[in-house]
Amino acid sequence: MHRNDLTISALEHCQLCPHGCGANRHQRLGLCRSPHTPVVASVCRHTGEEPPVSGVGGICNVFFAGCNMRCTYCQNHQISRSALPPQPHWLTSVGTIADSIEALLQQGCTAVGFVSPTHQVPQMLIIIEELHQRGLHPRVVYNSNGYDSLQILRLLEGVVDVYLPDFKYSDNRLARRCSGVLRYAQTATEAIAEMYRQKGASLVLNEQGEAEFGLIVRHLVLPGHVANSIGVLRRIAGRISPRVHVSLMAQYYPPSGLVLRGGLSRQLNEQEYAAVVAEYNALQLRGWMQDLSSAQHYRPDFESTVPFDGCC
Ligand code: SF4
Repeated sequence: MHRNDLTISALEHCQLCPHGCGANRHQRLGLCRSPHTPVVASVCRHTGEEPPVSGVGGICNVFFAGCNMRCTYCQNHQISRSALPPQPHWLTSVGTIADSIEALLQQGCTAVGFVSPTHQVPQMLIIIEELHQRGLHPRVVYNSNGYDSLQILRLLEGVVDVYLPDFKYSDNRLARRCSGVLRYAQTATEAIAEMYRQKGASLVLNEQGEAEFGLIVRHLVLPGHVANSIGVLRRIAGRISPRVHVSLMAQYYPPSGLVLRGGLSRQLNEQEYAAVVAEYNALQLRGWMQDLSSAQHYRPDFESTVPFDGCC
């Protein structure tokens, strides 16, 4: 497949993500519950990402609705469970999405972060093309859940400036139980290795300290699953590179309205996080580590026009 083939027509037999479910998204929804049209739940300025990602003026984040994972604890569950029917304030035309992005670029954002883009890559490319036609060339950040197709990532070489994937699980049984995906550990390892092939370990910053080129891997530590986190860190260090920038996240909280079992119904505790931090340090990884208190601050509400109160 060539990048020029990565169009809306490719969604007639969708193989965009590792599910490869083959849905004709012009007629029915696949496992990601997303149609062939773009569906964006929010375009907003965000200042709470890692400092080189947020940059000086905040990053313009474009939150796609729907998702190719089904995390029982999803912190964005208001928008990830289905892209249909679109909520009244969601954006479904390339023109209006580009208008919203352009407005934030005029207010000082210099990068656009596409959040959960895996199942809407052709739509993302059309939005980027529309921005280019308007003479706008922001840095492009690809912020995915790590369950990405190797073939699609290869086609994004030269389009994406900064990869910002999650690496959620080293434990495939946990991935299946909590997120409904198979072979997550191997799939994410291969996907992130491809991102690493494109970007290497260096994070290139501009004079303002903003990331212009590179790769940052995120890992959200889940309560009750320290071994899973340690396994993720070891996979990153051992199978990708110990020099990759890793952002360790402690912001997990059980979203209200979701039925969660076991450790997932509570926040992370101090001992659990300390054990994961100790492994991070032992592996001599570099990057960022959230404070445990971050679980109080990152609680998006996508029913609001300002989903990240205090971070936007
Ligand atoms: S992106 Fe959606 S429709 Fe396409 S293969 Fe993945 S789950 Fe199926």
